[in-house]
Amino acid sequence: MALAYIILIVVLGVIALLGVGGLFLLRPTARRRFPQRETRAVPGQEADTRGGTAGTDTLERAREATLPPAVPTQEAPPAPPPAAPPAPPVAPPAPPVEKPPPSAGRMVRLRARLARSQSGFGSALLTLLSRDRLDDETWDEIEEVLITADVGVSPSRTIVEDLRTKVKVEGARTPEEVRQMLRTELLAQVETAASRVLRTQRHEGRPAVLMMVGVNGTGKTTTCGKLARALVGDGQSVLLGAADTFRAAAADQLQTWGQRVGAETVRSDREGADPASVAYEAVSQGIEAEVDAVLIDTAGRLHTKAGLMDELGKVKRVIEKRTAVDEVLLVLDATTGQNGLRQARVFAEVVNVSGIVLTKLDGTAKGGIVIAVQRELGVPVKLVGLGEGPDDLAPFDPATFVDAILGG
Ligand code: GDP
Repeated sequence: MALAYIILIVVLGVIALLGVGGLFLLRPTARRRFPQRETRAVPGQEADTRGGTAGTDTLERAREATLPPAVPTQEAPPAPPPAAPPAPPVAPPAPPVEKPPPSAGRMVRLRARLARSQSGFGSALLTLLSRDRLDDETWDEIEEVLITADVGVSPSRTIVEDLRTKVKVEGARTPEEVRQMLRTELLAQVETAASRVLRTQRHEGRPAVLMMVGVNGTGKTTTCGKLARALVGDGQSVLLGAADTFRAAAADQLQTWGQRVGAETVRSDREGADPASVAYEAVSQGIEAEVDAVLIDTAGRLHTKAGLMDELGKVKRVIEKRTAVDEVLLVLDATTGQNGLRQARVFAEVVNVSGIVLTKLDGTAKGGIVIAVQRELGVPVKLVGLGEGPDDLAPFDPATFVDAILGG
């Protein structure tokens, strides 16, 4: 019996030993499930994770020698690597500097584009004028075609009266004579006594200064860029002033235009800065750098806001504290018709407009606006925009324009 007790105690002792040993054997497996956590342990938490004694370490080493390498399981994914510090913003690489073509002959090069948009109105006039009998009704139709092409009511009437007189005097007409007669009449309406020469030449000790004004979206910034390009193509050095400080995108756009032809752009580093001070700074830098021409792009807020229009006057006055302004170019969108004319009137009241840039003539059949706007403001159209391409800006030439209207 005593022997039986002894055997029982020994058996229990062995079971107890095996149990404790089993516990130690299980622990390393649990730890190896999270190997990542172990290697990335934050100092101070390492003792907790390891949490064992010399004895358990020995057992672990024994297990490690026999166990296959543990694989991380789905239920506890490894901690993500620490987020990399945000990369510093990388400035887009400056576009390569191009060598733009000179401005001479551009209007002729772009004549096909002009003819495509304008010859509809020219051919309608030629057809009507070629009728055998030119009765009152036909003359009314001719006047209507002119008005529809934005020539304006009063100039349209003048043209019709002039043509009527000629037809009466000259009698029967060949198609070529009709064409010639209309050409002469349109040219007389398009030509003005004022010079169309754009004053971009450097003066003794100072650059030429040109300001671009007009309502948003008419193409001021694009025109500044295209003009800078044309001037560089003609061998001049140019500096751009981004005084449209209300749209950061406008300054970016201008800077890109400048970079393409190696022209510096003066701009503010914050939106809404005082446009007059940017313009002043641009002109000052232009004087210092001895460039040939400084082109100032301005904000084109709606002309109905009197205060904002006053601001434009201020930009000009502030520039004039430094130097004279050679040109104030009013940029008008040819597709806006009568609305464009209203804008022109208001701008002309605020600043002394010296020339008109008529943009988007490629996108409208209403080229008659050239006649209307010149008459309205008494200033000549000096440049025309004939597309979105970088070289689609041309000095305005009346003969080329009229020939394009007549499909010649
Ligand atoms: P801003 O607000 O007056 O500075 O106008 P932008 O220079 O930003 O031009 C407005 C839009 O008109 C742009 O998409 C230009 O590409 C476009 N644009 C400018 N000039 C011409 C042009 O002569 N023809 C055509 N088709 N688009 C033009």
